[in-house]
Amino acid sequence: MQAVLAALLGLQAIDSQIFRAQAELKRLPQERASRKAELDKRALRIAELKREVMLLRTKIKELEDGASEKRQRVRKVESEAASSRQDMALLVAFQHEARTLKKEIGALEEEGLGHLEKIEGLEKESAAIAASLEGELRIFAEFEANMQRESEAAGARLNQLLEERKQRSGTAIPPDAVAIYAKLLAAREGQALAPLEGRACQACFMDVPPNLVVRLSRGSELVQCPGCSRILYNAS
Ligand SMILES: [Zn+2]
Repeated sequence: MQAVLAALLGLQAIDSQIFRAQAELKRLPQERASRKAELDKRALRIAELKREVMLLRTKIKELEDGASEKRQRVRKVESEAASSRQDMALLVAFQHEARTLKKEIGALEEEGLGHLEKIEGLEKESAAIAASLEGELRIFAEFEANMQRESEAAGARLNQLLEERKQRSGTAIPPDAVAIYAKLLAAREGQALAPLEGRACQACFMDVPPNLVVRLSRGSELVQCPGCSRILYNAS
């Protein structure tokens, strides 16, 4: 059994590295996707702000058209008032209409100014996002280039490790031990074995019962930690 344990330890040395390389290969695209989503969100916000600004500009144009129509009407009413000085009632009616129109023009202009102020705020926000986005996109491009290199390195490392592992798997390990080992490797993030120091498992730091220590030192069977199920070996 000591030979089996030694063989498993040899396998573990490679497998923990394989696990790390695989985790790295999985993590990199995930990180890229989450970074990209963040950048996309900000670009989308800029597009949204631009659309809002466009709508407001259309509204302002409509308000301006309305005001200039009313201004024309004022000029007409004022000239009609000038030519009807003889008719007091008509004159008063024209003057009243002109006042009302001017008030309405004032209200339209005010509304337009309100929209202009809003546009200013939106454009400021959009410019601020665009400015920081520029830097973020540069950082992202660097990240992507690094990621490419890291992925290639991790991929090459992984292939090399898998090749090493293939050469080692010739070592005689009983199938049931291989099965326990493989299950633990997947469940325990690449660490199927744990050293026992004194009575403490060095993976989960649980104290194992004394009889397990005895069984382990007898070396006639695989002993698993009751806390984390890892296959135990003597640290010394
Ligand atoms: Zn344990």
